[in-house]
Amino acid sequence: MTHDDDIQVSVLGLGEMGGALAAALVAAGHRVTVWNRSPGRADRLVAQGARAAATAGDAVRAGGPVIVCLLDHASVREVLDPLAAELAGRTLVNVTTTTPAQARETAAWAAGAGAAYLDGGIMAVPRMIGRPGASVLYSGSADVFHEHRRLFDLWGTSTYFGEDAGMASLYDLALLAGMYVMFAGFAHGAAMVAPAGVTAGEFAAMAAPWLTAMTGAFAGFAEVIDGGDYTVPGQQSLEFSDLTYLVAASADQGVSTEVVAMVQRLVRRQVDAGHGKEGFARIIESIRRPG
Ligand code: NAP
Repeated sequence: MTHDDDIQVSVLGLGEMGGALAAALVAAGHRVTVWNRSPGRADRLVAQGARAAATAGDAVRAGGPVIVCLLDHASVREVLDPLAAELAGRTLVNVTTTTPAQARETAAWAAGAGAAYLDGGIMAVPRMIGRPGASVLYSGSADVFHEHRRLFDLWGTSTYFGEDAGMASLYDLALLAGMYVMFAGFAHGAAMVAPAGVTAGEFAAMAAPWLTAMTGAFAGFAEVIDGGDYTVPGQQSLEFSDLTYLVAASADQGVSTEVVAMVQRLVRRQVDAGHGKEGFARIIESIRRPG
C-alpha cells in the first residue's frame, strides 16, 4: 500500500546491512529501487515489493535519494565514480563505514559532482535495524538530514552532528573504540578465570552487571576532563589505580597480560610524570599525547 508521502528511494548495496536498511524502507511503503553487484541478493526484497535495477546507474536514474551501503570506501568510489554525471542535483546518503577522512573525501567528490551529501555511521547490527536500540549517526548536509529524516527514523534513532561530513564517522569509530576495548576487557577476564574452571558464561553473568554499573562513572570522569583539573578531591588517584596485581594475577593464570599491561602503561606514564596523586581520569592525557 502506498501513500501520498511515500517517496522513491534507491539503495546501492544489499549486503547484510544494506538489505536490512532497504527492507525497512520497503516495509514502510516507500518505492524502493535496489541494486547489488552480485545478482540474487535483491530477490527477497523484490518479493516484498522492491524493484531491482540491473545496474547502479539504473538505480540512480530511478530518482529520489540514493542510499549507499557498500563494504568500504574503495567500493563506494568504485561504484559512484562512473556515475558522477548522473548524480548532479541529486542526494547521496552514504552509510558505509569509512574513516572521517574518507567521508570528507567522498563529500568533496560529491560536491564536485553537484550532489548534496550526507554521511552516516550505523550503530547497530542488521537485525537491530528498525528496532529499539538501533542508532544511526549523520553529518554533512543539514538540508538532506532534515528533508529525509522520516526515512532515517525508520532505521533507528537518528542523530545529526553538523556539516562536517567526517563527524558521524569520527563519532562512530570513537564509540566502536570504546566497545572493542571493553570486549577485550571481558575476554581478558574470562581468560583469567577459565583455568580455575569458570566458564565464559558464568563470567559473563558477573561481568555484564558489573560493567553496566561502571558506566555510571563516565559522567564524573567527563566532568573532570572537561574541567581540566585532575586534582579535584574525591577521585580515585592514579597511584591507587596501579594495575600491578592485575598484571601479576594474569601472568599467574598463564594468560596474556597485553590488555591489562596496556592500561597499566597509560597509568604509569602519568605517575612517572609526577601526577600520581591526581585522578584516574588523567589517563586521557596519556592518550592525547602519545608516548
Ligand atoms: P556485507 O554483508 O559484506 O555486504 C557488503 C556489500 O558491499 C555487498 O552488497 C557487496 O556486494 C558490496 N560490495 C563489496 N565490494 C564491492 C565492490 N567493489 N563493488 C560493488 N559492491 C561491492 O557487509 P554489510 O554487513 O552489509 O556492511 C555494509 C556496510 O555497513 C559496511 O561499511 C559495514 O561496516 C557497515 N556496517 C555493518 C554492520 C553489520 O553489523 N553488518 C554494522 C554497522 C555498520 P556483493 O554482494 O556483490 O559482494
